[in-house]
Amino acid sequence: MIEGFFRADLHCHSTCSDGTLSPVEIIELALKNNLQGLSITDHDTISAYPVALAASLKTSLNLISGIEFSAMHRNTSVHILAYSFSPESQIIKDFCSKHQNRRIQRNREILSLLALSKMPLTEKEVDCSELPPTEHIIGRPHIASAMVKKGYVSTMQEAFNLYIGEGKPCYSAGSYFSVEETIDLIHQARGLAIIAHPHLVENSRVLQDLLTMPFDGIEGYYGRFNKEQCARWVKIGEKKGWLITGGSDFHGTIKPTLQLGNSWVNENTFRVLQNHFLANQEKIKS
Ligand code: AMP
Ligand code: ZN
Ligand code: FE
Ligand code: FE
Repeated sequence: MIEGFFRADLHCHSTCSDGTLSPVEIIELALKNNLQGLSITDHDTISAYPVALAASLKTSLNLISGIEFSAMHRNTSVHILAYSFSPESQIIKDFCSKHQNRRIQRNREILSLLALSKMPLTEKEVDCSELPPTEHIIGRPHIASAMVKKGYVSTMQEAFNLYIGEGKPCYSAGSYFSVEETIDLIHQARGLAIIAHPHLVENSRVLQDLLTMPFDGIEGYYGRFNKEQCARWVKIGEKKGWLITGGSDFHGTIKPTLQLGNSWVNENTFRVLQNHFLANQEKIKS
């Protein structure tokens, strides 16, 4: 790891969603990897905060709020990163609760389809977390992991490829929120809305639509993509006058190729987000 200059990883997942390290362990790893800035962006939950904020205040690490919301557009899954809202925001908390309910229902639909395909799993077998269910998001990676444990498939990837990936026989999208309403809600909470990993949006019409929506930024730097691929998104974002964010999408041992800090933003970009975050925290206090 490179020492001596400012790097901030703005995309990672903890045990509050589908990562394998707790929020505090992520903070420890960020420091070990010489990161100066961080945002923990769990899927549809902010339960890593405020424990993570309290822990970061005892260290030199600058932590800002973050989340990765799931949304749908033209029947395609789209991920939207939000930053810099207050972790006390009732608007964000209420939206997370709606996502929690949506997921409980959606996961039950997937489990029913798996049972019909002679691969029964109980909700308990899927939830291997010790966190209370309201603080912890259960996603398809948990279902995939439980399928491996039961011997239905040999790898999590096989579970997605054969059964629970989009369009596969045991997949259910369930109910969902649109990209437009997600952006609107983030803005109501005075947060910044960012297109996550645009490289993964394969449908060009979806991408075209996203680029006309009132986002504040785009994730131009992303762990799994090379310099040229990043440059393309940076250019598109700059043309729109958007913030260019970046991060590793670290999930711990379930995605071992994505290491915390292998994609990052510089100090200037981080301070823009951090100033926004600090201003929102002040507003909530006053
Ligand atoms: P969920 O939000 O519960 O629908 O789960 C989405 C997560 O599952 C994504 O963030 C990925 O980590 C993982 N995932 C989705 N599709 C695939 C796939 N085809 N192969 C591997 N992992 C996938
Ligand atoms: Zn994930
Ligand atoms: Fe994502
Ligand atoms: Fe992610």
